[in-house]
Amino acid sequence: KGFEWLGLDEDILKGVRKKGYVTPTPIQKKAIPLVLDGRDVVAMARTGSGKTAAYLLPLFQHLLLHSDRIGIKGLILSPTRELAQQIWKFSKELGHFLPFKFALLTGGDKIEKHFSLIHSTPDVIIATPGRLLHLLVEMELKLETVSFVVLDEADRLFELGFSESLHEMFARIPRDKQLLLFSATLPEMVAEFATAKLNNPILIRL
Ligand code: AMP
Repeated sequence: KGFEWLGLDEDILKGVRKKGYVTPTPIQKKAIPLVLDGRDVVAMARTGSGKTAAYLLPLFQHLLLHSDRIGIKGLILSPTRELAQQIWKFSKELGHFLPFKFALLTGGDKIEKHFSLIHSTPDVIIATPGRLLHLLVEMELKLETVSFVVLDEADRLFELGFSESLHEMFARIPRDKQLLLFSATLPEMVAEFATAKLNNPILIRL
């Protein structure tokens, strides 16, 4: 079976076809319908499994559904700049036929550049935690309109010591949101975080 039965909008499917995907990967088959259903999900998935599209495609659908809302709607957190860049590139390619703006905010870039990106009213922010927290605390970045959050490579986010940044960040994001956690492994810290922050999550193991 192809992507058509998953319930994604035609403009999303066009991007999928342009990227050359014919059949959803196992993680995409399991995760996409649940996420479209509004569920919080913990997915144990590695790089190479197709995890990026597993959350980007339902995020697009979420954005289409809430296109009347003003402000930043999606937030994707990555442990590293390289992964964040890759996610951003994917979002451009898969979202080719969609009108959404994705802003990449990672450490190392000039803060002035991020300042103007924030003011360009992006729909989604892709960020590393250190820089995002800096923008929240020092600049006027507001996340109170965010309704869809993804933690990618969550185990690495915790390994790299971003636990405190994550807690500070979550204090600034509305409780009422959809939260997805993708992780290759499920160490104690990640499991505890998931229990505390996710709402009745479904665990997907492959
Ligand atoms: P990821 O695990 O998200 O890093 O994706 C790994 C690779 O699989 C990337 O090159 C994707 O473009 C590719 N990919 C993701 N989903 C599919 C799919 N359904 N069919 C073919 N390739 C895919």
